[in-house]
Amino acid sequence: MGDAFDEDCDYLFKAVLIGDSGVGKSNLLSRFAKDEFRLDSKPTIGVEFAYRNIKVADKIIKAQIWDTAGQERFRAITSSYYRGALGALLVYDITRRETYESVRKWLQELREFGSEHMVVVLVGNKCDLGQSREVEKEEGKGFAENERLFFMETSALQNVNVEEAFMQMITKIHHQTGQKCL
Ligand code: GDP
Repeated sequence: MGDAFDEDCDYLFKAVLIGDSGVGKSNLLSRFAKDEFRLDSKPTIGVEFAYRNIKVADKIIKAQIWDTAGQERFRAITSSYYRGALGALLVYDITRRETYESVRKWLQELREFGSEHMVVVLVGNKCDLGQSREVEKEEGKGFAENERLFFMETSALQNVNVEEAFMQMITKIHHQTGQKCL
């Protein structure tokens, strides 16, 4: 996943991916971090993270994005996963309604363990599978508006809106606050 501290940057942000197992979190992350889609990805145990440097205005931001790496399967996400995170992508699968029903629970957890002003983007992934859709776009969007989250439908498979979802979170964090690079 790349060398963590090999380049200079102005800010370092931590952000987390959260959501039910199988919604596409690790594929979204690898798409964003490496423009790569892992077709046969198998969840491994233990948290993983990836870095990417992004230039916003004249600042270099190093985004450190954490992935559950399958731990959510065992309800084993702990408070340390959320500690210090300034943003989150809360992901569901538009073709599996139960993953959308879980969003409320993940949001509660984020609000319990995450920082107060965490920037949260609600992400309906797998929008390439429109024929199997179980959650309407308007529904996700409406929920996000009520909860004051950002919203985006994505496809990690077809690389639709992946960059936009991460960038929305990162630029919003950048506007809110910053941490010195380690
Ligand atoms: P995670 O458990 O949330 O990290 O989910 P993964 O990234 O491991 O993906 C779970 C499964 O969904 C894998 O079989 C992926 O190939 C598939 N997948 C992930 N994103 C997409 C997508 O945007 N479209 C489609 N059709 N499949 C996807």
